[in-house]
Amino acid sequence: MENKYCSNCGAEIDSKAEICPKCGVRQKGTYIIQEKNPGVAAVLSALWVGLGQIYNGEIGKGILLMVVYTISAVLMVLIIGFITTPILWVYGVYDAYNSAKMINSGEKIV
Ligand SMILES: [Zn+2]
Repeated sequence: MENKYCSNCGAEIDSKAEICPKCGVRQKGTYIIQEKNPGVAAVLSALWVGLGQIYNGEIGKGILLMVVYTISAVLMVLIIGFITTPILWVYGVYDAYNSAKMINSGEKIV
């Protein structure tokens, strides 16, 4: 078994441990962070809101956004969709871009 050392207290811990059993501090850099391209995430969400989120690994959120966006687009028939659809679109693109950046920097774990 491969061991590593806690970044906080220096205790020897399992290489797969996410949290040090000794001091309870979450280990940084132990995750395999898959780099996400914020541009790709934004473009995908621009094509269909939710796609960028799925690309980022936020599957549940992506599917939810896709469903809500589709409903919103259908609601365009009832005028209200003209208000909600652009808001959702802007949110989806911004969120995909921002999430990708946060995933890359390790601020967000998916
Ligand atoms: Zn520790």
